[in-house]
Amino acid sequence: MTTPLAFDLKPSAQPLSDQDRAAVLAAPGFGRHFTDNMVTIRWSEGRGWHDARLQPYAPLQMDPANMTLHYAQSIFEGLKAYRQPDGGVATFRPEENARRFQRSARRLAMPELPEETFVEAIDLLIRQDEAWVPNEPEQSLYIRPFMFATEVGLGVRPANEYLFMVIASPAGAYFPGGVKPVSVWLSEEYVRAAPGGTGEAKCAGNYAASLVAQAEAAQHGCDQVVWLDAVERRWIEEMGGMNLYFVEGAGDDARILTPELTGTLLPGITRLSLLQIAEDLGYATGETRLTKDDWREGNADGSISEVFACGTAAVITPVGSVKSTSASWTVGDGGPGPVTTRLRETLLAVQSGSAPDPHGWLHRV
Ligand code: PMP
Repeated sequence: MTTPLAFDLKPSAQPLSDQDRAAVLAAPGFGRHFTDNMVTIRWSEGRGWHDARLQPYAPLQMDPANMTLHYAQSIFEGLKAYRQPDGGVATFRPEENARRFQRSARRLAMPELPEETFVEAIDLLIRQDEAWVPNEPEQSLYIRPFMFATEVGLGVRPANEYLFMVIASPAGAYFPGGVKPVSVWLSEEYVRAAPGGTGEAKCAGNYAASLVAQAEAAQHGCDQVVWLDAVERRWIEEMGGMNLYFVEGAGDDARILTPELTGTLLPGITRLSLLQIAEDLGYATGETRLTKDDWREGNADGSISEVFACGTAAVITPVGSVKSTSASWTVGDGGPGPVTTRLRETLLAVQSGSAPDPHGWLHRV
């Protein structure tokens, strides 16, 4: 048994005034404003995890030879805290984020933060900055845990010092004007992840490598990029920052399918939760492989009735249309389908505490 880390609690003595915070919360946007405090924990070879602190949010000083800047040992997570009907606050399945963070660390040859420390660090920050958790429906406090190398020096090898941090940022409703389907571009030139690569890890480099494909999608008038597999360039993998679901058939007989985790997709926690919710609602579910031709033909013959993407940021986003170098087509009637809407409302109700939580997914802060 290792002894739990003791946190040194020295929060900001000058938090933003109630009035200024209210002004931010009136139109929070996404990832633009940060709360008054942050959590930091250090790791070094020989000492392990130490120096756990809750302290005022502030810039970091960085040496030009910081190893992260050169060799990109940098991983992160994303989850949300939701205001509950009784005024309390809950996060959604934070222990799943803790485990994914450990798997990402392992893949990037970084130290693994214990699950309980990850969850405690988040709880401490939310408790301190609770006034930043919005009260409005569909708004939340987005939590960003991350870790990067802090050793100074050049030479390609795992660093011997790291910093784990948690920061938080209020997030507005993703679709303030009502749910709007996205258009997607099937990327046939660029790939996100190859077998044996880092596709399963939530590492910064995966996102850096995705940006040109996202720009290509925009050039073709699309909102988002959809990734194909690296080997045959025909199996559907996932969207920019979300997993994908396909609805086969309609009504109570609909089957809800999602690409299986082949090692090159990010195992989304929303994806995992929706497999369970769909089953709870009586739908057949499946993890399978589906090609871009299956998608186009399924839409043409009506066997695929709806497609949606899912992830922490937007929960569920309907996919309205698809474009590639060789074809373009509309999904269903291009609008949010009934199964998509039902799954979205069910998951949002669990997260906001307005429906029962039969699987114990909410973690009270
Ligand atoms: N795929 C990618 C590439 C992502 O960045 C994310 C967001 N973390 C997801 C899928 C969805 O994961 P989650 O449901 O855990 O947010």
